[in-house]
Amino acid sequence: MENMVNYDPSFAEEVFRDVDAGDEIKMCMNCGVCAGSCPLREHMDYPPRQIFGLIRAGKREEVLSSKAIMLCTSCYTCVVKCPRNIPVMDVMHGLAHYALKQGYVPRKDTASFGKEFWKQVYRLGRIDEKDLPRRVFFSGGLVEGIKAMLNFMDIGLRLMLHHRMKLLPERKIKGVKSLQKMLDKAEGLGKGGAAA
Ligand code: SF4
Ligand code: SF4
Repeated sequence: MENMVNYDPSFAEEVFRDVDAGDEIKMCMNCGVCAGSCPLREHMDYPPRQIFGLIRAGKREEVLSSKAIMLCTSCYTCVVKCPRNIPVMDVMHGLAHYALKQGYVPRKDTASFGKEFWKQVYRLGRIDEKDLPRRVFFSGGLVEGIKAMLNFMDIGLRLMLHHRMKLLPERKIKGVKSLQKMLDKAEGLGKGGAAA
């Protein structure tokens, strides 16, 4: 009995009840396929399987302040691969929204990436793979920016060599104004404009 781990079910109950898609976690069998297939796993402090385990273990602070829940890019890989058909991505987004509502602030690097990402989508209707990292790298200051650029220079050059990244700046998509209208509307709905 001495070696028994004490699990606290209160946080899991909170997640099942209050987080969008949170009750889907009940079906998780902890196989780890989602974590193994997530392209961002190396950048996450806890991959999805571990996040679900922490929820069951009652680790509220670790989960809601984790970088992982803010990093999910909605690539859908985990959803396709999960043998239990759990919408892992929806749970991760549900947790991110819930964490923000509870007053948790995304970490500086995640926050500046998100801010620059959305600014660029709004302005161009697409992402410029050169400009986005450059802006994120230099958001921490000149020296940090130069260090990061040197670290990633090799990858950038190889991407350009294989025509995966253009040398010239990306142009706006056709109909960017319509996209901006939709995004403005969505922002209004998010702030409760729909109820008005
Ligand atoms: S792949 Fe599905 S069942 Fe396996 S750990 Fe991830 S969420 Fe759970
Ligand atoms: S949807 Fe999110 S959690 Fe799932 S594999 Fe993609 S980045 Fe990872």
